[in-house]
Amino acid sequence: MIVTRFAPSPTGFLHIGGLRTALFSYLWARKNGGKFLLRIEDTDQARNSEAAVKAILEAFEWVKMDYDGAIEYQSKRFDIYAEYVNKLLDSGKAYRCYMSKEELDALREEQIKLGKRPRYDGRYRSLPPKEGVKPVVRIKSPTSGKVTIEDGVKGAVSFEWSETVDDFIIARSDGTPTYNFVVAVDDALMGVTDVIRGDDHLSNTPKQIVVYNALGFAVPKFFHVPMILSGEGKKLSKRDGATDVMEYKKMGYLPEALLNFLVRLGWSHGDQEIFSRQELLRLFDPRSINKSASAYNASKLLWINSEYIKQKNDQELIALLKEDFSLDVGGFKNAALLFNLCKEKARTLMDFASEARRFLLRPESYDEKDAAAVSADAIALCERFLEFARDKGEFHQAIGEFLEANDLKMPQLAKPMRVALFGAAQGPALAESLAILGVKEAQERVAALKNRVCRG
Ligand code: GLU
Repeated sequence: MIVTRFAPSPTGFLHIGGLRTALFSYLWARKNGGKFLLRIEDTDQARNSEAAVKAILEAFEWVKMDYDGAIEYQSKRFDIYAEYVNKLLDSGKAYRCYMSKEELDALREEQIKLGKRPRYDGRYRSLPPKEGVKPVVRIKSPTSGKVTIEDGVKGAVSFEWSETVDDFIIARSDGTPTYNFVVAVDDALMGVTDVIRGDDHLSNTPKQIVVYNALGFAVPKFFHVPMILSGEGKKLSKRDGATDVMEYKKMGYLPEALLNFLVRLGWSHGDQEIFSRQELLRLFDPRSINKSASAYNASKLLWINSEYIKQKNDQELIALLKEDFSLDVGGFKNAALLFNLCKEKARTLMDFASEARRFLLRPESYDEKDAAAVSADAIALCERFLEFARDKGEFHQAIGEFLEANDLKMPQLAKPMRVALFGAAQGPALAESLAILGVKEAQERVAALKNRVCRG
């Protein structure tokens, strides 16, 4: 059985890089009828916060990736880690190191002087305890030979043991366990078979393998996923996506669209862009993740989002607009027509809401210049047109007939009309707008503008 996990450290919000590896892990487990676990890596009391845990869980809920079992918190597992530290001490695979800070600094300096990479030299493997120093616990790492990781994404990656690891600390002098130790212990105890994570963790993997081996645990499969870079190939900045996943909700992205966008960052299936979750569950395979970094493409995300918005039915849209943008379209009689128009234009729900809002609410203000260009005659023209169109039903035809009968060009009618309906001369097509608003509402909006024009 395949068991994967997502293991965020709650030092900040969930960003899209994390969400993408979570998605890969989720898909791989679900596809294989396995398990997907969620583990909060909150052992670093100084850097972790409750608020970050909450933010991560909130984002997880938004994207609807269900995990198996209860969430595991590393902060509640210190007893377990202590037990495994003791096991290693008892079996002689780890030892207490009494090296003082001064001694360590001196060793470091000497190594640097000799042009060597600073590393702990293992001296307390054999030295006796020292008075006055609270020891740390170090694990015995191999000192020669190499380790090869058969990475599911990168292929075989080899490290010389002596170049890569020293006898690193697994428990600090206050007894708290260190990061690489707890990750390996947890992955092993939780039965994780496939570790899918960012390739910024590749360099931690040899250390974790030392822990697996020392404890006699099977080493899982690793899939180290290349980073997401900006369109210019640089580290992602906040502006181009390195932001809280929940910001995407605020900006009007649908979670399904965001996930669809993310799965394509590093993975592909032919040139298909839009995947239902069912399709992803059938097709996704971490072994076909790209070896090179992928580039964040904001306009593609917008396009995918607009495709997903188009797939939403009216009831779903009503619920989303209400929840995310406090816009109540529920009682609007021509909601279906309104939604069709908005779907044509909107790439985000935020666009959608602002487009819908101008139909639901009368203009609160008018564009100064556009309103000043509307004469009393133009208002009268709008009034006459609406009278004419009242019984016609089909506005395209009514507009055509009216323009012809009065020897007018479209802008002469459409501009003042739009100022009345929406507050500005530019805006949605007139016939569609009138079909959505109805003649009566249009008349009231014209009357409101007339009031202003005549007063002004
Ligand atoms: N907690 C680590 C992080 O948030 C991930 C550890 C892992 O996936 O092995 O970067």
